[in-house]
Amino acid sequence: MKTVSPEIFASALRRLLPERRADGSPARHYLQLPAIGAQEAEALSEVVLGPGNWVSNAGPDVPRFEQALSEFTGIEHVVACVNGTTAIQIALQLAGVGPMHTLPGQPDRPRRDMVICPSLTFVATANAVVHRGAVPAFVDAEPDTLGMDPEALRAFLESQCERRGGQTIHSDTGMRVAAVLPVHIFGNPCQIEAIAQVAGEWEIPLVEDAAESLGSWVGEAHTGGFSVAAATSFNGNKLITTGGGGAIFTRDAAAAATARHITTTAKDPSRPGWQYWHDDVAYNYRMPNLNAAFGLAQVDRLDTLLAQKERLFERWSAIFEDVEGVELVQARPGTTANRWLVAARLPDGTTLQARDAILRHLNAEHLYCRPIWVPMHKLPMYHRCSRGPLEQTERLEATLINIPSTAALAEG
Ligand SMILES: *Cc1c(COP(=O)(O)O)cnc(C)c1O
Repeated sequence: MKTVSPEIFASALRRLLPERRADGSPARHYLQLPAIGAQEAEALSEVVLGPGNWVSNAGPDVPRFEQALSEFTGIEHVVACVNGTTAIQIALQLAGVGPMHTLPGQPDRPRRDMVICPSLTFVATANAVVHRGAVPAFVDAEPDTLGMDPEALRAFLESQCERRGGQTIHSDTGMRVAAVLPVHIFGNPCQIEAIAQVAGEWEIPLVEDAAESLGSWVGEAHTGGFSVAAATSFNGNKLITTGGGGAIFTRDAAAAATARHITTTAKDPSRPGWQYWHDDVAYNYRMPNLNAAFGLAQVDRLDTLLAQKERLFERWSAIFEDVEGVELVQARPGTTANRWLVAARLPDGTTLQARDAILRHLNAEHLYCRPIWVPMHKLPMYHRCSRGPLEQTERLEATLINIPSTAALAEG
């Protein structure tokens, strides 16, 4: 089976990425660098030197940051968290996911909840499920969007699950299917409406991992707005960053209030502030004010970053048009992708070995390209989890390479 040669792939990248810097030293080209400058430094120094020294999560920039994200996305409620993983964990809790649940007729035999997610995702998706005390099950990806295949979800439910006592039960394990958790991979919106349709038919709540998809839309609707609750991330490698950080999105005011409560140790707000009265086992997951102030400065860059990402995608598209056998992953028609990471597809039938030969060559040339993640079902802690067939997942694993996607590259 033929694939592209490492040298041809590298020479395509070289059309945009120079080999040397002005001083003659080798230029290093990373996958995705954040845009950070004076406005972030100023925001931080205002917090540190300003009145109140609001560094913790009680500061005023946390609700401001949440409000700015709500305005940008059109999703009514936003709760900022310490990272995206905790935001997914709490979003699952808001959707009613476990830790344990009893089944009809078996009140003395509590079992863990099951959450269906894609195998082709970053490990934090599955980890967040386990952090909530539930167990992930994996279904296949769909090759156009790289996201969960709604037909694979349907097939998993029809072949492995049954409706019993108003719940969806995974027959083999007896676990309740408590949520479906699709991911918008690299900022490409998945087939979220079709997934929502299938989940709705089985009366399973939907939670979106929108960690990579801030600025990605399905028609006029922002990703993360299709589910009970969704999560995004502001890790250093995402489109905008707060250093570490994340946020929960929901359209439900009561869910947002719950999220605020349980991310701040469930301290009773109706009692005097000096009382240590907590009404639930909860978390210290709220975003500190320092990070939120930084995030507000980043939100100001969002429109520019998205425009640059789009321009860079067009430049890469024009370059790879001339490379036989390589195509870029496109946004699904009717959607707007944030172009967070540009992904190149190698010819169908490329092996993992051939992919790695290309990656080795590129990385040796300081072109720090990356493969897509190792699918979850191949990792030691998840390889015994329930799953449907994962042929597309493994095909995509061998054929996808992320290429440098930093927004500033659009300026040449
Ligand atoms: C980044 C990311 C996360 C986790 O976010 P953190 O802020 O790093 O905890 C979860 N899921 C996906 C798909 C991600 O890309």
